[in-house]
Amino acid sequence: MTEASKAPTLAKFASPVDRFHLELEPLKEAGMKLAGIYCVFAPVELVRAAGAVSVGLCGKKQAPIPEAERVLPANLCPLIKSSFGYAATATCPYFNATDFILAETTCDGKKKMFELMNSIKTVHMMRLPTDKSPEAQALWLAEMRRLAAFLAERTGQTVTDEALRREIALQNRIRRALLDVAAFMSEARPPISSLDLMGVCESRTFVLDQEAYLNDLLALRGELEELRAKGSSPYRQGAPRILLTGTPVGRGSEKVLRLLEEAGAVVVVLENCTGIKGVVGLTDENAADPFAALAKRYLDTPCSCMSPNTGRFALIDDLTRQFQPTGVVDLVWQACHTYSVESHSLSRHVTEDLGLPFLKIETDYTESDVEQLRTRIEAFLELQTH
Ligand code: SF4
Ligand code: SF4
Repeated sequence: MTEASKAPTLAKFASPVDRFHLELEPLKEAGMKLAGIYCVFAPVELVRAAGAVSVGLCGKKQAPIPEAERVLPANLCPLIKSSFGYAATATCPYFNATDFILAETTCDGKKKMFELMNSIKTVHMMRLPTDKSPEAQALWLAEMRRLAAFLAERTGQTVTDEALRREIALQNRIRRALLDVAAFMSEARPPISSLDLMGVCESRTFVLDQEAYLNDLLALRGELEELRAKGSSPYRQGAPRILLTGTPVGRGSEKVLRLLEEAGAVVVVLENCTGIKGVVGLTDENAADPFAALAKRYLDTPCSCMSPNTGRFALIDDLTRQFQPTGVVDLVWQACHTYSVESHSLSRHVTEDLGLPFLKIETDYTESDVEQLRTRIEAFLELQTH
């Protein structure tokens, strides 16, 4: 990587926990409730329309895992163990500040973990269907309404169509702005690093003042335009371009992303749910029933918990057209059955239909395999250098 100037607004996304505490204090004083969320299936629009706010809690660090393994089996996905470990040890400031948890019946390990978490803090479980049939749509819409009733009980505020439409419009604007920022990675030499971009995306779930977050995104977009005009980039010309798909990554679990960049690649797009997957797809703002529009939008999320999960393949096709990757890396957290099994069909699609090299990496949150991974990644990138 070569040295380059950074967009000044990136500093605002650098330490989300400080910003969270600053924003939380007046809200708590005003009696506002804080919902903890773990997945991009959680409809934040509904939470906010009920007069509450939400914060992302998905565990991305190794630290609480040994404690979690006193209760959970060791051969469980690190994300589930880390999430539970933070709750069990009361070491996550975000978890500690929440009033209740919103969960969904996604993968088996996660939904069973939530049963245990419920003895630490109240968990409201949404029954997530696994397909998009009319019956599934009806169930998910009913779950949206059941969530609205639960939230009203907690906040004393009934969700009106008007409030829901307002929050839908705000989240649509945020998603559009995030997609605009992410689009800079389609440049031959992008003006932002993918690690910085990951921080920007991840901050969305930690910033309580979502209007302020939107304004920061718009400011960042303007700064990136200026850097692009000056030809400023942290990347060299002709670097291999990687589409990183699979399980979620964030601060603390960005090992593979970091190794790819250290080996000289540009990770042009994170397809996973901490990246683009949680942002694509807007909610129809003109629909007669905003609840139904919201249910449809969230059920379209192409997570491997869906069966079949054709939306993920279609998204990867779109992203390949936009970001022109030279290779695809599929990251699978150890013991994540849904992504691990899906990797087989994805590998065939990427190599045969898209004609791109494909690498599956199965790992956990520890550093024990870093050198082994580095060797595999360098060999994979070697094929793409020109
Ligand atoms: S991959 Fe799916 S189940 Fe896992 S955190 Fe993301 S949205 Fe949730
Ligand atoms: S990474 Fe896989 S096993 Fe872990 S929570 Fe997500 S879907 Fe479940």
